[in-house]
Amino acid sequence: MSFDYDLFVIGGGSGGVRAARVAAGEDGAKVALAEEDRYGGTCVIRGCVPKKLMVFASEYAGMVDQARAYGWDMSNGGFDWGTFRGKMHAELDRLEGIYRNILKNNGVETFDQRAKLVDAHTVELADGSRKSARHILVATGGRPVKPDVPGADLGITSNDIFHLDALPESILIIGGGYIACEFAGILNGLGVHVTQYYRGAQILRGFDDEARGLVCEEMCQNGIDVHLGTNVLEMHREGDAIRVKATNGDKRLFDQVMFATGRVPNADDLGLEGLGVARGRKGQIVVDKYSQTGVPSVYAIGDVTDRVNLTPVAIREGMAFVETVFRGNPTPVDHDLIPTAIFTQPEMGTVGLSEEQAAEQEPIEVYATSFKPMQTSFAGQSGRVLMKLVVSQATRKVLGCHIVAPGAGEMIQLAGIAVKMGATKEDFDRTVAVHPTMSEEMVTMKAPVRRA
Ligand code: NDP
Repeated sequence: MSFDYDLFVIGGGSGGVRAARVAAGEDGAKVALAEEDRYGGTCVIRGCVPKKLMVFASEYAGMVDQARAYGWDMSNGGFDWGTFRGKMHAELDRLEGIYRNILKNNGVETFDQRAKLVDAHTVELADGSRKSARHILVATGGRPVKPDVPGADLGITSNDIFHLDALPESILIIGGGYIACEFAGILNGLGVHVTQYYRGAQILRGFDDEARGLVCEEMCQNGIDVHLGTNVLEMHREGDAIRVKATNGDKRLFDQVMFATGRVPNADDLGLEGLGVARGRKGQIVVDKYSQTGVPSVYAIGDVTDRVNLTPVAIREGMAFVETVFRGNPTPVDHDLIPTAIFTQPEMGTVGLSEEQAAEQEPIEVYATSFKPMQTSFAGQSGRVLMKLVVSQATRKVLGCHIVAPGAGEMIQLAGIAVKMGATKEDFDRTVAVHPTMSEEMVTMKAPVRRA
């Protein structure tokens, strides 16, 4: 049977673009890709990249104070959102252009429109045309969701934050996950009065308790008004502002409300049900370890499969798909021990098990130190950092490494290699300290602070 393409990819984000360009460019496959929105997907257009630029922008406020404490004659004339936003969007346009060019230069045919499946080998584009393909890869990502509370339509999500005409004077952020905590720090740094409501007992559920406790403490120290055990009951417009009634009895006015209450897979209206492709509880496409659905010619990668929703994971899933399907080398994606960073202020970098998860699994030793780092302590700032290793008593392997510190994202990438290789506490200890740094504490912690 002959097909129009060897591979049709639906979705031009990190995972889809990688799979398309490698299958076409390196394996000589005939590939097409459909994208209804902008190329680059969540990460490049409305996620990691603009978020990190905003993190950089927001950190300058603190740097000016610090520089003054070091003897510099500096003043902070204020932040110009309009100037920054213009530059940020120009950068996103540039990156989108690169994504488009990557596809073009590798011979991938692109369709700037929505696509859905009509059968196991056929895709229908929004203009009604149909294309056949030996394999179809769904890489449609995810989107933010708002909870079902009265007035929720008055609130924005992370999709909208990059497009605000002006920064609000005050904002309420709802949620306690990555996105809520990162934007609380960003907007606080940019001079917005930030209040954060989180329904649970501590932000960043699932991460190491001690680490997330310190992040929360530092966020409060930095001026973010964090309310734990608090949720929104209803909201309504009052003049230019939004009145929010909360479970703690507060009825406060905010200029802006942002929901960061989770994301759901973009798997609706793709024709999956007609084909019998199974969906999970959150609506995600169910796949096996090779990213294959129950329909053998249909695969799915990235956030639409709701495995580990991170850009580098989607890219790996895309690469493993190509290896499996186009190189005859079945390759599962290793989802174990993925290092990750949360760009709060200070950042959290983490790999492996939290103390709580590890203690449930086996007897452990905990090595941890929390201190005021030299750079900020000299400037009279009170912020603390945390370096922590969770170690197996039986094997001495480092089961988890948790860092809360400026630059923790950079540090955990490297610590992640050691942990992934199965390094023991003694391997860490054998490594000579790099002095004077914060991370040298990782190799100089002699006695466990506790056993569990
Ligand atoms: P998360 O799932 O991490 O967090 C959602 C938050 O919203 C949780 O605190 C959750 O509370 C809360 N919540 C959910 N439903 C409600 C509700 N009805 N009312 C009130 N609160 C609610 O989602 P995010 O949107 O923050 O991030 C999505 C994913 O994106 C992350 O899991 C991550 O994989 C990825 N990401 C990664 C980043 C990075 O690597 N730095 C940055 C940003 C995103 P509860 O804990 O009680 O469930």
